[in-house]
Amino acid sequence: MQTPADPAGVCNFRVLRRQAESSTVRVGGVRIADGEFVVVAGPCSVESRGQILQTAHVVRSLGATMLRGGAFKPRTNPYAFQGLGWEGITLLADAGRSSGLPTVSEVMTIDQVERISDSIDVLQIGARNMQNFDLLRAVGRTRRPVLLKRGFSATIDELLAAAEYIVAEGNSDVILCERGIRTFEPATRNTLDLSAVPILRERSHLPVFVDPSHSVGVRRWIRPLCRAAKAVGAHGLLVEVHPNPAEAMSDREQALSFDDFGAIMDELDRIPIMSHAADLAPPSTYDSRATA
Ligand code: PEP
Ligand code: MN
Repeated sequence: MQTPADPAGVCNFRVLRRQAESSTVRVGGVRIADGEFVVVAGPCSVESRGQILQTAHVVRSLGATMLRGGAFKPRTNPYAFQGLGWEGITLLADAGRSSGLPTVSEVMTIDQVERISDSIDVLQIGARNMQNFDLLRAVGRTRRPVLLKRGFSATIDELLAAAEYIVAEGNSDVILCERGIRTFEPATRNTLDLSAVPILRERSHLPVFVDPSHSVGVRRWIRPLCRAAKAVGAHGLLVEVHPNPAEAMSDREQALSFDDFGAIMDELDRIPIMSHAADLAPPSTYDSRATA
C-alpha cells in the first residue's frame, strides 16, 4: 500500500469517496446529514441513575437530540474513576428510553461490542482507540452507527483511513469527530483543528462532528468554539454537560452546567447551517495523492 507518492500509505481509499452531498446517518428519528445540525450532550461519565436521568431530560428540553455518557472510560491515570461499566450502560439506555433521546457511549474493547450494541444506539470509538484496527473491524461488523473520534496525534488522512476500516466491513454509518489534537500549545487541553471540518467534508462523504469539550478542556472557552464549529460547517456537536460540574467524577473542568448549555443552544439558533458540502469545494478539486 505504501508508495513514495503516498508515504503514510493512507490515501488509497476504496470505499470512502467524495460526493456532492454528505451521506445521511439515521439514529432513531435523528438525521445526521447536510442541512441538519445535531447536538449530542451529556456527562463525560454516567455516575448514577439520578444524574443521567436528570441530564437527559434537561438537555432534551434545551434542544439536544442525542444523549452521551461514558460507562467504560479510557483514563490516563489507572487510579482515576474508570466508569460504572455495565451498570453505566444500563443506566444510559434507561435514560435514553425515558427521555426519548438516542444514546452514544464508548466501546473500548472487542468483547464489549456486541453487548453494548444491544442497548446503545451509537458506538463511540475514542481518540485513544482510533487506530485499534481490530476494534474498528468489530464495530464495522455491527449495524450500529459509529462515532469515530480523531486520535490526538492522528492526521486527517489517518482518521479517514480508520473510517475506511469500518466502512470496508459493511457499516457505512460512520460519523467523524474532530476532538482536538496535541500541539505545542499548553493553554488548552488540545488544539481544536477547525480546519479539519472543511477538509474532511472535501475528502469524504461522511458527516463531521466537533467536540469542543475535549478539545479546549476549559468550560468558558467551549461556547465560542461551538459557534465556530457550526459556522465552519460541522454537522453536529458533542459536548459534556453535568448537573453539578464541580462534582463531576471525570473531566470536571470542561463540564458545562445546564445554564451554560442552554446559553450555547440559544446562540447556535442564530447561526445558519452550512447546508451543502458542495458549497465548500467541488468534488473534482481533491486529489488525495497530491497531498501525500
Ligand atoms: C469522551 O468522549 O468521553 C472521551 C474520552 O473522548 P476522547 O476519546 O476524545 O478523549
Ligand atoms: Mn470526557
